[in-house]
Amino acid sequence: MTTSISNPPEDQIRAKALALGFDLCRFTDIDEGWISAKRLAEFVNSGRHGEMAWLAETVERRSNPRAMWPDARSAIVLGMNYGPDHDPLALLARPTKGAISVYAQGDDYHELIKSRLKTLARWLQSQFGGELKVFVDTAPLLEKPLAERAGLGWQGKHTNLVSREFGSWLFLGSILTTLDLNPDPGETTTCGTCHACLDVCPTQAFPAPNQLDARRCISYLTIELKGPIPTEFREALGNRIYGCDDCLAVCPWNKFAAVAAEQKLHARPSLEAPSLAELARLNDAQFRSLFTKSPIKRIGRARFIRNVLYAIGNSGEPTLAVEAEQLLNDASELVRGAAVWALSRLLEPGHFKALREAHRSLEQDQQVLAEWCAYA
Ligand code: SF4
Repeated sequence: MTTSISNPPEDQIRAKALALGFDLCRFTDIDEGWISAKRLAEFVNSGRHGEMAWLAETVERRSNPRAMWPDARSAIVLGMNYGPDHDPLALLARPTKGAISVYAQGDDYHELIKSRLKTLARWLQSQFGGELKVFVDTAPLLEKPLAERAGLGWQGKHTNLVSREFGSWLFLGSILTTLDLNPDPGETTTCGTCHACLDVCPTQAFPAPNQLDARRCISYLTIELKGPIPTEFREALGNRIYGCDDCLAVCPWNKFAAVAAEQKLHARPSLEAPSLAELARLNDAQFRSLFTKSPIKRIGRARFIRNVLYAIGNSGEPTLAVEAEQLLNDASELVRGAAVWALSRLLEPGHFKALREAHRSLEQDQQVLAEWCAYA
């Protein structure tokens, strides 16, 4: 270490992290083997990761932080509260609006947290030396078990982190370092007999407590899945067009949650309750413009409009059929297929049949043709 100091390094690092806007900063060693490595292997071996091939490809490196970086000695785990100022479930009762997961209603947290982590890392190195690497949800590092080990919270029965101080709403970031830092006590699971998160899941994505089948999870289906969402899940999507907060929002530990202090994590007014009709009309340039600096931009217009169309199909609002009808000739087969499904739900059978006769002979894509035929 390069400086003579009176306070322990951990106290100084924590003070600096809080000054940078983090809400929690705790430390852990990374010596022991992890039960989470076994859980991840089981998750991947059972195919529950779906199309997320990157998870299967990095199982070995995710087994322990040292598997990724053998020189690492300690982890600094940071949390930033993104607690909403509204009930995230309230919008589900307004079917002509699109429900976007709380984490995606503000600016992209990856960029925000990464820049703060880098500032902290530069300061850390100037004060204490050592080598380090920073992580925000993108590298093969199991951040939730690391956070549990450092005492930021515990992995609830829905597998997400629950914090005594902030409930369900914590973004995580980590710094691995070659420094030996004093570990904080870990957190223990405090779910008790509660199973509210398992019961509320609209698609029954939890085969058992602490197990997630991502292939059934609305977050996976609306964000990660590239093709059409399987028909069996479409109705359960309701008006959720990007992610799902149900299991997070019902957790009783949210009674301790606070509204995010960081303004950039607050919902943009345009994304709090966007009109499905207006979203359905976005062209590619408008999509990119609306979602500048938003994590939603990553999935691209076609996947997003697919989700909007499923929500339109679930709206029960016949006046929205015109929005779906205008997308029957869209350049994306993903969009065309979802438009067919939406129309099959909103139009009178005779009207749907007439549209099918008009479009079927022009359609080249087999999946879209299958959609037309499925709802004859
Ligand atoms: S809802 Fe209940 S079971 Fe689920 S994480 Fe919260 S306390 Fe645990």
